[in-house]
Amino acid sequence: MPFSNSHNTLKLRFPAEDEFPDLSSHNNHMAKVLTPELYAELRAKSTPSGFTLDDVIQTGVDNPGHPYIMTVGCVAGDEESYDVFKELFDPIIEDRHGGYKPGDEHKTDLNPDNLQGGDDLDPNYVLSSRVRTGRHSAGRRPDCAPPPRHNDNKTFLVWINEEDHLRVISMQKGGNMKEVFTRFCNGLTQIETLFKSKNYEFMWNPHLGYILTCPSNLGTGLRAGVHIKLPHLGKHEKFPEVLKRLRLQKRGTGGVDTAAVGGVFDVSNADRLGFSEVELVQMVVDGVKLLVEMEQRLEQGQAIDDLIPAQK
Ligand code: ADP
Ligand code: MG
Repeated sequence: MPFSNSHNTLKLRFPAEDEFPDLSSHNNHMAKVLTPELYAELRAKSTPSGFTLDDVIQTGVDNPGHPYIMTVGCVAGDEESYDVFKELFDPIIEDRHGGYKPGDEHKTDLNPDNLQGGDDLDPNYVLSSRVRTGRHSAGRRPDCAPPPRHNDNKTFLVWINEEDHLRVISMQKGGNMKEVFTRFCNGLTQIETLFKSKNYEFMWNPHLGYILTCPSNLGTGLRAGVHIKLPHLGKHEKFPEVLKRLRLQKRGTGGVDTAAVGGVFDVSNADRLGFSEVELVQMVVDGVKLLVEMEQRLEQGQAIDDLIPAQK
């Protein structure tokens, strides 16, 4: 059944300039890319399942920005959205994913043996470790709602139809990211094998990697993160720059829309596309070790300048 909320036929009776949303107070990738001209060019198009430009951008019109993260401000309603609206999505993908170009190819590495170290992040600072990704069943549109499926001790979880068809999560208390990533890879491989045995496939192509609803999650869809206590570094003026140079991102511990409380942050990889799963987890492992070292220096009242990584 096509999407029913887009009313495209009705809207096209009105001039594009009247329908173009007011994005003057917006700070997201979509608002940076979408011009009145581009809106006029794309607004009559729709994907085979009926997803329109207005459907793509609605979230970014409703949500102007975020205190910590440059949000994307648009979503794909199906696999074809990335193609039908490529004039909008391609520059957003390039901007969000460090210059990733329309001709670039993505790489996958889900072999946990390739991760160096990662089993010893200091549990005095690292409260918990988590790796998640999303997957879509090819040829189907995302729907919403049914509840999460949990293992009993909640170290391996699959959410169904939250933001993506599947969200696969591995997590546990403390700093053994290697164990978390190993369970993640094994579980994900088992799910994919089960899918294939029933003649389903995950949405994937060589350019976009695994295709997810939000363009920020293309490629690996992987977010490896820790809840980490950084009461000193978290207040340091260089903290945002340090995270940026380590290609890491911070959130509050209650999820993407929350602020950090009591110096505890959710720190994770900022990239998803153009790096393999192993490379991204490695960035988190190495980066978190450095953040702990900086925090320890600041506890002693010492400077951290010599630890700050060089700008790349
Ligand atoms: P994502 O989109 O990666 O699932 P969100 O920021 O939406 O992440 O958070 C989803 C939930 O996962 C939140 O309830 C958050 O508290 C929890 N969470 C995220 N990272 C961790 C972590 N390292 N340890 C424990 N819980 C976490
Ligand atoms: Mg989320």
